[in-house]
Amino acid sequence: MAARVLIVDSISANRILLKVKLAGAFSQVEHAASAGEALDLLETGATPDLLVLGGDLIDISAIDLCALVKERPKLANLPVLLVHTDGDRTDRIEALRAGADDVFDMSVSTDALLARIRSIVRGRNSYEELRLRDRAGRIPLLAETLSGFDSPASVLLAVRTKTEGAQWQAHLSKLTPFGLRHQLGADIMRNMGQFTAPDAIMISLSVSAPEEALRLLAEVRARAATRQAAVLVVLDEKDDTARINALDLGANDVIAEGFDAEEAVLRLDKMIARKRLTDRLRQRVEDGLTAAVTDPLTGLFNRRYAMPHLTKMAQRAKGQSEPQGDFAVMLADLDHFKEVNDKYGHAAGDIVLAEIARRMRANIKSADLIARMGGEEFLVVVQTDNRESAANVAQRLCDVVRAEPVYLRGQDVKIPVTVSIGVAMGSDMLEAKKAKFGGGEDSLASALIDQADQALYGAKADGRDKVLSYTAA
Ligand code: GH3
Ligand code: MG
Ligand code: MG
Repeated sequence: MAARVLIVDSISANRILLKVKLAGAFSQVEHAASAGEALDLLETGATPDLLVLGGDLIDISAIDLCALVKERPKLANLPVLLVHTDGDRTDRIEALRAGADDVFDMSVSTDALLARIRSIVRGRNSYEELRLRDRAGRIPLLAETLSGFDSPASVLLAVRTKTEGAQWQAHLSKLTPFGLRHQLGADIMRNMGQFTAPDAIMISLSVSAPEEALRLLAEVRARAATRQAAVLVVLDEKDDTARINALDLGANDVIAEGFDAEEAVLRLDKMIARKRLTDRLRQRVEDGLTAAVTDPLTGLFNRRYAMPHLTKMAQRAKGQSEPQGDFAVMLADLDHFKEVNDKYGHAAGDIVLAEIARRMRANIKSADLIARMGGEEFLVVVQTDNRESAANVAQRLCDVVRAEPVYLRGQDVKIPVTVSIGVAMGSDMLEAKKAKFGGGEDSLASALIDQADQALYGAKADGRDKVLSYTAA
């Protein structure tokens, strides 16, 4: 599941014990016998996928080492597990406070340890994957947009009884500004459809009857609306099977020895910070993807989006033995647009372009495509039964552009605008292609554009402000 783990413990028997537990999960296991040696390795070598700190170090304590590692920006994302030989609750809280991702006893079963490591690696992988896709992050000014103001986190307590809910909420509210509310797990399940996801859900699981909590967990992970919520499962007593099941069903973290408000807040803080960072990163990646295929002036798709889309439509049409509804490709070019720029200025020209784009968009179906191919030229692709209905659509676009001059508030002028449109039918192109076009699939789209362009040229030559359909002759 992950490649490299670094185990740090000064007692060699402990290192061997840990190595045995982890060997199945990591292809490469490295050792360090002291904190100093570990820091040297981390400083000079490649960062491992996981750092496991045993409790017995000769130079500084494992908790101090953990804090040192977390302070280094290069290592801040490196998951750290502490494995005590005889830790108690105080040690656990201290380790979590120092930034450890989790704390175990040496007696932990291999399965439980591996399940926790799987959940940590999963979280890290989805974050790293987003980071790789995040082009903005590599541009210094844009990279900063990831930090930002956060409202207090919302946490839903999915409890088994109302009494439990009231108790948890009372204890947690003393320690944290989180927006807290509690609800019975069964009620949440019933209303899953209308559920708006909080930042985190804390699910109470009874080890003697775990089914309901596990079902809720699975449901939270299955639904798009709640999938990104951080989930902390609270076991009412120690139990490896329940712990492993919860982690493998997608819990981000587990409190394994009964509700503990302080521990819960430490774990929630960490989960929520990561969740929000991932949310912002995901948003930025999505924005970046949209920006890459959008024309900023008109908000329409650009050529980069339009061409592959058209190729796909042409391929689909070609694949059908019986043509099931044709499609039309239109090129629309504003008439004498250079004069608008010359007379009113380039900024006025931009306003006219944006307004014409808006009108055309408003006059085709939402399933049809309109894109700005460049300059004052637009591509429109519509599903249509035949040439006549395609020409009607094109004529409607022509009419709405002419109908009303574009009003320029700044200069208080009305600018009359017209457009010429060339139309080509998908079926025509397929016929023509059999006869003369060769080449790969991309040429289907180019052939269609070429035919529409010839028709557009004809419309311009014929006096502009009109629609012309391509004919092979
Ligand atoms: P025709 O009827 O033959 O199409 O005449 P035209 O003047 O529209 O054609 P031409 O290709 O000569 O000029 C296109 C003009 O469109 C020239 C260019 O300045 C203008 N243009 C292209 N892109 C933009 C833009 O983004 N903003 C503005 N304001 N003008 C643009
Ligand atoms: Mg023009
Ligand atoms: Mg042009």
